[in-house]
Amino acid sequence: MTQTGQHDWAPQIERLQTWRAELLARTTQIDRELDRVLDRDMEDQAIQTEHRDVAEKLGAVGLREIRAIDAALERIKAGEYGICRVCGGDISPERLLAVPTTTECRDCAQSHAAKARNMASRGH
Ligand SMILES: [Zn+2]
Repeated sequence: MTQTGQHDWAPQIERLQTWRAELLARTTQIDRELDRVLDRDMEDQAIQTEHRDVAEKLGAVGLREIRAIDAALERIKAGEYGICRVCGGDISPERLLAVPTTTECRDCAQSHAAKARNMASRGH
């Protein structure tokens, strides 16, 4: 904490860990729900399959977010947290609060999004 040039990321670490625990709880709940749905003797197989697909997708998103949180915690440890991986500039504290797992500053993220939009609209 007294190291020069180092942020005190303690509050952010706490946020990330709390968020991670919530996600983990939710993903576990989805897993349980999934088992319940599969156990039930449903006459409508289509609904059952659809329900399972949705639950699986939610579970996958949760796992992906957990991995992003782990990566963010790793970056904090490595002293790379809060630094844009594209331009090397500082990511604003407001952005880090809003998107704690972000690896890009707002400008870079926006130019990425703009590029993706351009590519999508150029398709036709
Ligand atoms: Zn940047």
